[in-house]
Amino acid sequence: MTSMSAVSTGLPDPAPRKLPLTSLAIGFVILVCASLIVMQAWVTWHAREVQLAETERASTNLARSVAQHAYDTIKAADTILVGLVERVEVDGITESNMDRMHTLLVKSAQELPQLHGLFIYDKNGRWVANSQSKMLQNANNSDREYFIFHREHADRSVHIGPPIKSKSTGEWIVTVSRRLNDGDGSFAGVVLSTIKMEYFKRHYEQFEIGQTGAIFVALDNGTLLLRRPFEEKSLGRDISQLPLFRDFLPHARMGTQTFTSGQDGITRINSYLHLEKYPLVVSAALSRDEVLADWRSNAIIQSIGVGLLILGLAFMGSRLIRQIRLRTQVENELLLARNSLQSMNRTLEKLAMQDGLTGLANRRQFDTTLRDEFTRAMRNGSSLALIMIDVDCFKQYNDIYGHAAGDECLREVGKIVAAGKNRPGDLSARYGGEELVVLLPGTDVAGALMVAESIRQAIFRMDLKHAGNACGVVTVSAGVDAFVPVRENNQALELIEAADQALYRAKSSGRNRVCASDGKT
Ligand code: GH3
Ligand code: MG
Ligand code: MG
Repeated sequence: MTSMSAVSTGLPDPAPRKLPLTSLAIGFVILVCASLIVMQAWVTWHAREVQLAETERASTNLARSVAQHAYDTIKAADTILVGLVERVEVDGITESNMDRMHTLLVKSAQELPQLHGLFIYDKNGRWVANSQSKMLQNANNSDREYFIFHREHADRSVHIGPPIKSKSTGEWIVTVSRRLNDGDGSFAGVVLSTIKMEYFKRHYEQFEIGQTGAIFVALDNGTLLLRRPFEEKSLGRDISQLPLFRDFLPHARMGTQTFTSGQDGITRINSYLHLEKYPLVVSAALSRDEVLADWRSNAIIQSIGVGLLILGLAFMGSRLIRQIRLRTQVENELLLARNSLQSMNRTLEKLAMQDGLTGLANRRQFDTTLRDEFTRAMRNGSSLALIMIDVDCFKQYNDIYGHAAGDECLREVGKIVAAGKNRPGDLSARYGGEELVVLLPGTDVAGALMVAESIRQAIFRMDLKHAGNACGVVTVSAGVDAFVPVRENNQALELIEAADQALYRAKSSGRNRVCASDGKT
């Protein structure tokens, strides 16, 4: 039998897929979008941290600068006081001394532009000398904070007082003072230098601290000396309850803290510093919102850019995925079409090689197989046998029982002929009309005769009524021939003719029998 060859559609076999392409594509697009979001979030967060770290550095530097300025200013004023104390205590307070002292004070005050004035008071608070051109007559400063402080404290160190308004000029000033002692150590008066608040104010105004930044200098007991933005009413105010004094200064002399002001609700990055030599605390604070404003607008612009990029990616990704889905769908449909085409081809091929009535091989397949088997038998030197079977008196059968019954009869005979062959290489076929053939490769005449005889008997035993036949049932006659082919030309035809002749002999010698070709029984 010839092998059936499938009709190829030209499509490659689809490779086995672990994950569908669409799932991979969706996963990839989601991964890319998520990576962009994470990266953008990280970059934004990092930029914010860098900005805040820079601001902390800036506020620390600012606080150091303010502290240094405060130190230098007060140190200069105090240095003069130290000299004055020495001089007054050695020389004593006399009219003549004080005249010379006045000249010295005027000169010293001129040396330092930040100084508002230099003053010497006796133990009752009366003005004994000052750096101004005129002396206030009958002025008494015994009510001033610094005077009371020195009178009541034997401590000889410098004292910085709360801000006050000058009695002589009406300006806001900061007082730096020292105690004068008599030879026995009792209180002899006070030397005072006053510093213009304006001097500090101008210095602080140079710094770039934004709209809501703040700088202040306070005494370490929480009394505010000066602040920027400048507010007259805040001078001297007690700010000891601010978080800076309450929570942070007790733990560290300097540091940077971020907290929200209870007054204006603004969160600031505060750097503070407690001066080592003087009882002063300085603080520089920058508004977090202000320093982050640039960062915020950058972050918004970048986020919009990344958002648009993600939208574009998602849009392109969805189109791509739709295309992949469509392609996969088309591929699947093509695959289905190819499979159904292949199965239709197989059916067609089967039909083309099969006899429609009996289901046996048809004449075309028989001719092909006969040719192939002949070539093979010739090559192998083996015998090839053919049985030709013909239903007896079939014309009468048709006449008596009708053509449809004739067809049914042929089908039954076909079944028995098909069952009669023993080996896989045997082929039973409808040769034409009511003639059937069985091709038996590797079989000699004796073997073929046995097969033919068993078929004949089986059909007889079928006991299919045939009133037109001599023995009353359907019978067949068969002619057999077999030989080892040695020549190529017309060998196949010779085998058919020989079997046909043997069949003719079976017919002419009474039917319902098997005959071999001449001289082979
Ligand atoms: P013999 O015993 O000598 O073979 O007599 P016979 O009548 O069988 O011989 P003949 O060759 O004269 O008649 C064959 C008949 O078989 C003629 C035809 O009508 C009938 N026949 C051929 N093919 C078919 C078929 O496919 N179906 C039916 N029902 N009849 C067929
Ligand atoms: Mg016939
Ligand atoms: Mg016949």
